[in-house]
Amino acid sequence: MKNVTGIHHITAIAGDPQENLDFYVGVLGLRMVKKSINQDVPDTYHLFFADGEGHPGTDLTFFPWPSMGPGSRGAGVWGEVAFTVPDGSLDFWESRLEEHGVQFSPRETRFGEAVLPFEDPHGMALALVETTVYEGQGFTPWLESGVPAEFQIQNLSSVRIVVRDPAPTAAFLANAYGFEESSREGEWRRFTVGEGAGGQRVDLRVDPEVTNGKWGVGSVHHVAFRVDDEPHELEVREQILTSGGHPTQIIDRFWFKSVYTREPSGALVEIATDGPGFAVDEDAAHLGETLVLPPWYEGQREAIENVLPTLTYAAVAERNAGGVA
Ligand code: ZN
Repeated sequence: MKNVTGIHHITAIAGDPQENLDFYVGVLGLRMVKKSINQDVPDTYHLFFADGEGHPGTDLTFFPWPSMGPGSRGAGVWGEVAFTVPDGSLDFWESRLEEHGVQFSPRETRFGEAVLPFEDPHGMALALVETTVYEGQGFTPWLESGVPAEFQIQNLSSVRIVVRDPAPTAAFLANAYGFEESSREGEWRRFTVGEGAGGQRVDLRVDPEVTNGKWGVGSVHHVAFRVDDEPHELEVREQILTSGGHPTQIIDRFWFKSVYTREPSGALVEIATDGPGFAVDEDAAHLGETLVLPPWYEGQREAIENVLPTLTYAAVAERNAGGVA
């Protein structure tokens, strides 16, 4: 049995791409480490937001598909995504969200930790949790962020899922990936891998009556777990098979290699390798500044650039300078 090491990235569906960039870079202070296109829908962006160096585990990515309409939460679709922030930083974050006109819910204590829930401009459920990341996560502050380094988001801490029947999903999380139930609180059961620190958690709630969720603006598209390299990925792929999953073959995503499957309640799960990483096709100092295309789309670059909306950092710069757009 070879466990995954934690969350690798999470991909969600956004509305307008400029609003998406303004929020994740301008408000949350993440770095856009890659600007690419959806490989299956090449007239739309795929935007990647992460820490200063684009470490695996820090990366929330988006398909901005405004015409898709809103998604809905429910069975078969991953729920709230929580980020790890340093202990004692939620006061800073409440002020920052307030300054930028972002509404947030009252602070909660979950599994003994302080949590600030809120939503992004497109209705995606988010939270900031004061906790520590696991050893081996890797985190580099982004020095150009509007958020001071000591308060910056460290990684993707956890993700929520609501299921009608917990047994199949719990067994699959354990046997395919190595997540074990480690604690319960109220309606929530926490599944962890490794140390169970920020980045190594899945929170599950049972609701026999829950209706099906649906993909759309503001919903999580899939969650990817981390594997070291291709041999590790093949082992986990084998575990997915023996756990009753139907994994794809390994797909080369350039910045990592991926295998997709659905867990028993229908939510899409990926495993992705740590390498080669985002600096494989761009200078590490200039990640995300130009549109990166898969090689087979290079011949159509001009046509693709013509249909994609122009994205600017103007609002971000204004925010970082202290003004609120
Ligand atoms: Zn993915």
